[in-house]
Parts: sequence; C-alpha cells; structure tokens
Amino acid sequence: FAPWADGNAKPYIAFDNVTKRFGDFTAVDDLTLHVYEREFFSLLGPSGCGKTTLLRMLAGFEEPTSGDIHLDGQPLKGVPPHKRPVNMMFQSYALFPHLSVADNVAFGLKQEGMEKGAIAERVNQMLKLVKLEQFAKRKPHQLSGGQRQRVALARSVAKRPKLLLLDEPLGALDKKLREETQFELMDLQVELGLTFMIVTHDQEEAMTMSDRIAVMDAGIIVQVGTPAEIYEAPATRYVADFIGNVNMFEGRVTARQGSLADLDAEDGFTIRTNAADGFRAGDHGWFAIRPEKVDVTRGRPEHEHNAVEGEVWDIAYLGGITVFNVRLDSGKVVKATVLNSERTVEDPIGYEERVWLSFEPDCGLLLAR
Ligand code: ATP
Repeated sequence: FAPWADGNAKPYIAFDNVTKRFGDFTAVDDLTLHVYEREFFSLLGPSGCGKTTLLRMLAGFEEPTSGDIHLDGQPLKGVPPHKRPVNMMFQSYALFPHLSVADNVAFGLKQEGMEKGAIAERVNQMLKLVKLEQFAKRKPHQLSGGQRQRVALARSVAKRPKLLLLDEPLGALDKKLREETQFELMDLQVELGLTFMIVTHDQEEAMTMSDRIAVMDAGIIVQVGTPAEIYEAPATRYVADFIGNVNMFEGRVTARQGSLADLDAEDGFTIRTNAADGFRAGDHGWFAIRPEKVDVTRGRPEHEHNAVEGEVWDIAYLGGITVFNVRLDSGKVVKATVLNSERTVEDPIGYEERVWLSFEPDCGLLLAR
C-alpha cells in the first residue's frame, strides 16, 4: 500500500498552498500536503505547530486565509461542516452529559435513520472495540477521563465516515490500553477501508499506526514520509531529534572521496561517513547517529575513524538491551543502546569505566541544518 509513490494516483485530501492567520499570527504557512484514500496519516509536532488548525480547516470549523483544500476532488471552500463527509473527534470529547454511553455512541446513527437492530449491533461492536461493554448504561460523569475518551472514539468511529479526523484520540489512556487501542484502530481502519488523519505529539504512537507521517514545525511541514523513512533518513536535525533518540556531532567536512566524507567533529575525533550527499570539503554539518548504532567496548576498536573515548555516566539495564550514557572528554553525553548478550551480561561494563564508543561509516547521516 503506497499510493503516494504512484505518480498517477489522485490525492483524496489535498491542501494546496494553505495559509491560516489568526490576526497577525500565522498558524499554518503556505502548506501543501496530499493524503490518499485509505491512508492512516499522522500529523506530528510540538504543541502549537498548527496540527489541530489543519484538521479544523478540513472539517470546516475554520476557513483558510488563502489556498485551497479539496476532498475527493471537490473544493471545500464555503461547504459547511455538516455537509462534509468528514467526522472529527475532538480533544475535548464533547459527550452528551444526559445520555448514557450507549446512547452517546448511537446518537449519530439514529440521526442517520439507521434501523434499531442495526444500531444496537453497531453500538455493541464499538463498545467492544474500546472495551467499555460493561459501561453501556453509565452516564459520562460516572466515567474516568480515559473512559470518556474511549466513548468519544467509539462514537466517532460508529458512523464509519469515509474520513475520520482524530485529535489526540488516545491521549488520556494509560500506556497498556493505549497500545492495545492503537492496534485495534489500525485493524478497524484497514477492515473498513477508512481514511484516518490523526494528530498526535507522541512519536511512538505515530510510528506504530501510520502509513505516513508529516512532521510539522511552526506552521510548516518539515518532512513527510513513512515511519521508516523519517527515522532512517530524517531531512533535518529537527526531524532527527523529534523522532526517537539521536546523537548529534557538529563539525566540518575535511575530505571527500567517492561516496565517503570525513568530518572533523568538535568533540575531538574524525567521523567517516558514506551518507554525505551534497557535502563538499569545508562544509559545516551535523552527523546524526541513533543510539542503537553505537557500540560500547572496553578496548579501542581497530579502525581509526568513528571511535571516541569516554566515561560511563549512566547505565540502564532494560532486559533485552542496556542503555549507556557516556560522557566524552568534550563534555558531551552520548547515548548508546547495546543488545544484551553473554559478552555484556557475564562481565558487564560499570559506572565510571573508561570505554570506547564506535560505529560503522554507513550507520549515520550527515545533515546540513
Ligand atoms: P496542540 O498539540 O497543543 O494541540 P497544535 O499543533 O494542534 O497544538 P493549533 O491548535 O493548530 O496547534 O494552534 C496553532 C497556533 O495557532 C497556536 O499558536 C495557537 O495559539 C494559534 N491559534 C489556534 N486557534 C486560534 C484562534 N482561534 N485564535 C488565535 N490563535 C489561534
């Protein structure tokens, strides 16, 4: 499933040069984004970067200041929210306080004129999805925050809108329930052939559920890609830092040969990389490397590049892996995660030990900004 890679595929949702201003504040800045039918698409970014505003414009609660939004080829300009084939679940649930859980979920179905038996069946299915079958008769005020959020989720999925917009739909759930619901949402989305656009600031959640992710910063999209693309090939330091953990080494390129480049890192060692497209000798850059690509050893590795000494500052044993924070002589703390094995368990590296950090030339990425 990769319609975005097909040059002929028509986008289902198209934002073209969309800007939204509130007074003289620009919340969304000349943004272009295409999402395809049946995609599970996530908007990821820090608080205030414009994610919710983007969804609200799609749902019709805000009009763009300029630019166009199309849904399934139709322009949305001037179309009121209730005439759009879109359902939005808000951060603030907005349940009907006087209706039971089951009646809240049934509400939209009744309005649509669905037959009674079918409604009961659908409501049951939805309450099962969010694990609230035994709460069907309760009123919203008799529920916890997380339970209320699950009712809102059940209600918004119940109508099976072709396009469902979810703003932090799982934010109030505890970790375990959140993870279970993520997988159930994904199953449901595939099973029913729906298109989901979801706002989250939880990068793990976005990685788990999405076909593609847009990483936003201050009203613009910095990068759009599959979870693997965003993680393995972040376009900027901002994206690398936002998705997962990363170590960053600043420096200057001293030599280029074929696909290889050498970076004289400010932390006092030389980094050799073959992921330095577009860089020339003399250029300034940042080498980004994930903790799981950095090895920790007592002895100095044989290669003269990509090795630096430091002192173990923190250790966290997490069962399958051990996380090391190692302080270099430059003062920088580098994170390395090492798979536990006989080597690491029988004679574990301890606090304050001097160690070598090393990595292979193809294990990181040189970034210009
Ligand atoms: P969060 O993760 O906190 O929900 P967000 O990325 O969804 O953040 P938005 O709600 O889209 O952010 O808001 C983007 C920016 O626009 C914020 O700085 C916000 O204060 C501003 N903003 C949103 N709505 C309005 C409004 N009606 N009037 C003025 N400013 C607004």
